[in-house]
Amino acid sequence: LTITPLILVDQDNVLADQCGYFLQLIAREYPEIYRTFSGELISFDFEKNFSPRYADQIMALRRRRGFFLQLELMPGAKNALHALQQQGWEVRIVTAPVRTSYSASEKLDWIVAHLGREWAEKTIITRDKTLVQGDILIDDNPEVRGLILATWRHILYDQSYNRKKNHPRLTWTDDFLSLIKTQLAYKTRPYTVL
Ligand SMILES: [Mg+2]
Repeated sequence: LTITPLILVDQDNVLADQCGYFLQLIAREYPEIYRTFSGELISFDFEKNFSPRYADQIMALRRRRGFFLQLELMPGAKNALHALQQQGWEVRIVTAPVRTSYSASEKLDWIVAHLGREWAEKTIITRDKTLVQGDILIDDNPEVRGLILATWRHILYDQSYNRKKNHPRLTWTDDFLSLIKTQLAYKTRPYTVL
């Protein structure tokens, strides 16, 4: 049993720049779809940033084999994970795959390639993050919901599409450690030390 703070970190658009690659891909291969983009991502659901008539086509692109392997590391992400560990905190990556037979393994392969094998061992793949215990979840999704009331406090990873949500937020180029320390101070985990 541990009383070490446990920090959960989302993968897409927190560690891996999914939106960046997605926009490049559409601009390059589907200019007719790209023309319906306002220039700013205003919806967390990526396809909703374009004309609704392209929604199925856009979602199919994300289900392409190899999609997740193409993503670039978010600025500062790798150093940030190390900085969280340097605090003595336990850190886990928590990620929800899309509904293909290969997206989960591609996400793990991406982690091995960009962060190292030790981080693949610290990755939890689930479509329901409320089922994962922790003190803090850093996630760009403004509405992380699931089956149970989560034990973690949600810190938003700042993105243009989540700014309407009044929540503590950070990026890896901010003083994220101070913000996390403040949020941890609100928490007392119900763990017993035996
Ligand atoms: Mg995400």
